[in-house]
Amino acid sequence: MDHLSDLDRHFVLHPATNLAAHQRQGPLIIERGEGIYVWDTQGKRYIEGLAGLWCVALGYGEDALVDAAAEQMRKLAYGQLFASRSHEPAILLSEKLAHWLPPTRSGDGPWRFLFGNSGSDANDTQIKLVRYYNNVAGRSQKKKIISRWNGYHGVTVGSASLTGLPVFHTHFDLPIEGILHTDCPHHFRHAEAGESEEAFATRLAANLEGMIQEEGPDTVAAFIAEPIMGAGGLIVPPATYFEKIQAVLERHDVILIDDEVITGFGRLGTPFGCQAMGMRPDTMTLAKALSSAYLPISAVAVPDWMHEAMKEPSDKLGAFAHGFTYSGHPVAAAVALRNLQLFEERDLIAHAARVGQHFQARLAALGELPFVGSTRGRGLLGGLELVRDVSAKRRFAAEDKVAIRVAALALERGLLVRALAGDTIAICPPLVITEAQVDELFDCLQSALRAFA
Ligand code: PLP
Repeated sequence: MDHLSDLDRHFVLHPATNLAAHQRQGPLIIERGEGIYVWDTQGKRYIEGLAGLWCVALGYGEDALVDAAAEQMRKLAYGQLFASRSHEPAILLSEKLAHWLPPTRSGDGPWRFLFGNSGSDANDTQIKLVRYYNNVAGRSQKKKIISRWNGYHGVTVGSASLTGLPVFHTHFDLPIEGILHTDCPHHFRHAEAGESEEAFATRLAANLEGMIQEEGPDTVAAFIAEPIMGAGGLIVPPATYFEKIQAVLERHDVILIDDEVITGFGRLGTPFGCQAMGMRPDTMTLAKALSSAYLPISAVAVPDWMHEAMKEPSDKLGAFAHGFTYSGHPVAAAVALRNLQLFEERDLIAHAARVGQHFQARLAALGELPFVGSTRGRGLLGGLELVRDVSAKRRFAAEDKVAIRVAALALERGLLVRALAGDTIAICPPLVITEAQVDELFDCLQSALRAFA
């Protein structure tokens, strides 16, 4: 162990880490990055196959973003949005985002943006908006939010409650009251024998409707979903899923919160994941690629009708009492704005759609390898699920830790990928990846999978 490793084990408490294993193994210390590659302190190069944590969309070492940050820091290092104060970066970023988003579902009036610092706090904001909006509208009983098992929405008390993975609840005394979980739309795992994707989607929509009816439609306010589940196992919903789910939501006046934290800004080859997956969101959560992770920033997109419903009551009730010191931080906002301008100048969404086709073809080809039970994804997002017996879809034992072992074999070969729940390997490279680099990535992964077999 070198000096930095020693210091790390001594002083750093690592999130989402097996704390005992970390003390035994020590950290992988990454020092620098350029494009889709990063280098560790020993000088070894890796393909960043998960774009950091699904976030470095524009790739590493982008000078234009460094310049945008430095320029803004020199001009105005901090500015606030509380109590009607404002600044140019937050205003121009909001205007830019409004042009990027699909029209609001009612089609009239603009989106407004409530900024935060992370996907988790943005989803907490979503919970509070649902409560505030219904309380001031005199419907104080309509506040429950339905999420899905395996959905991932963050780790704060509220957003971890939305997250549908037991490890984020157990021992944290979560979820909080008023958050319910419905079926995970994982056809490969949860469809009955011979059940088509459509029939599976119909069954899940009926289950959702049953849950709403049992709870009482006047108590259920919102449903939250990622267009494609990320951290919960890279799960692509079955054909017709959102169409059927939305019909249920509309029948019971339940809003759809679209968590675009991973799928936003081109990841699926469309500006937002909802457009690729047939969702018509009422509100949206944005983070990660919004600034390509050069600085932390997130946003909740609020439709005009929701703002209107809160506007008059706020006059009587006093300030809309929510927001963070760093909501719309000018440096983060300036970087996010420049990031989106670079997306436009470089036609990055079209690039992601084009290279994404090659990516998906290489991913699908891995399905031929032993122990690969399912491959799935869209655009430049993909996952593969390892199984002991492909025809019976029989799982490995949890203690086999197969996804972790494959990720370690990939790491040896110079590729960073992520092992997820359910023996799934996730791949989500920077959007700037080229076709040749997609080949390099999948050659490494294929070699790791062959070594595992
Ligand atoms: N929502 C989704 C879909 C995510 O994937 C994540 C993080 O991976 C979050 C929310 C939480 O974001 P953060 O880690 O920035 O709090």
